[in-house]
Amino acid sequence: MFQPSVPEKYVRLSDDELAQRIAACKERLGGRVCILGHHYQRDPVIQFADFTGDSLKLSQQAADQDEAEFIVFCGVHFMAESADILSSDRQTVCLPNIQAGCAMADMADASAVTAALEELAELTDAKVVPITYVNSSAADKAITARADGACCTSSNVRNVFQWALQPAGGGGAGADKILAIPDEHLGRNTAAALGFEEKACAVYDPHLPQGGLSAADVEAATFILWKGYCHVHQVFTVEQVDRVRADRPDIRVIVHSECTREVVAAADASGSTSQIIQAISEAQPGSQWAVGTEANLVNRLAQRHTDRFIRLLSDRPATCWQMGKIDLLHLLWVLDGLVAGEIINPVTVPADIAADARIALQRMLDIKAATGLTQ
Ligand code: SF4
Repeated sequence: MFQPSVPEKYVRLSDDELAQRIAACKERLGGRVCILGHHYQRDPVIQFADFTGDSLKLSQQAADQDEAEFIVFCGVHFMAESADILSSDRQTVCLPNIQAGCAMADMADASAVTAALEELAELTDAKVVPITYVNSSAADKAITARADGACCTSSNVRNVFQWALQPAGGGGAGADKILAIPDEHLGRNTAAALGFEEKACAVYDPHLPQGGLSAADVEAATFILWKGYCHVHQVFTVEQVDRVRADRPDIRVIVHSECTREVVAAADASGSTSQIIQAISEAQPGSQWAVGTEANLVNRLAQRHTDRFIRLLSDRPATCWQMGKIDLLHLLWVLDGLVAGEIINPVTVPADIAADARIALQRMLDIKAATGLTQ
């Protein structure tokens, strides 16, 4: 994506000057702007967020801010797309740095997903339904809806998989097989959580003819897992789990479901970002936690709960460098533009794609409501 250069006049400002001017812009724009900060965003940026949360929750909150004409999403590109899809036509979504993408979402290009569904249809007569993580492009979500599938989050993925495998007459999607896009690990961890053995999973590699799968491989699998991953959550290893337990025998290890199967199996608990936050927030004072998720969030949890011992599971940094492309410089540039009546870095999903992507998101929200999930 083309990123126009940030004007020279901003580059020379110190962090304090940037922060002061951002605060002044916010003051001037008042309720006309709503700034969203993803949990993985850095502190200097998150201090200006009106709401913090995961991508879907933030998009829904933004849509509820009727008076906000402008939604400035301090996250990555797919999150801004979801906000645009769920917000009203009179709201404009801006991504301060248009080059802030998600490496995992980019691993499932829409043309590759279309090709995969066609190849799988040639390999099997069974019904293959795509279930697409919200960490994906709007185009992937639209393809998912057209193929009878739904979106999922790491909080509700189990329920969405169960819905997909239920007979169509019983309210499900009637899938014989699920194509889980784009995170291999989330798909495998969810299959395991539903009681399936590893042999029920096959990995589809978009770089290989037919995904590297034979008809027999597809026939044997209930879950076909897209070969994609989050580089942040792949940092964590079983050796790190063993090491923190050797240092502190009473420590509890909690990791994100985007970690590998081995790490999730070795941990005491796993789940989405929201579920990790909830588990630690509800934990006893004095409890000890090693957390396998993005470092900015873990540091914030440690600052918030000083009566608990909280550390990152790894000694190596686990930060989302894509999210880090949103900094004070870019935030001020966009807000200054809005004050001057100029919209910088808008994210607009084409209407036909948005309409279908909304269907995939709505199916997920309906499943969530039907199962009484709160996250
Ligand atoms: S943490 Fe991973 S999944 Fe989340 S935005 Fe960054 S690269 Fe994408």
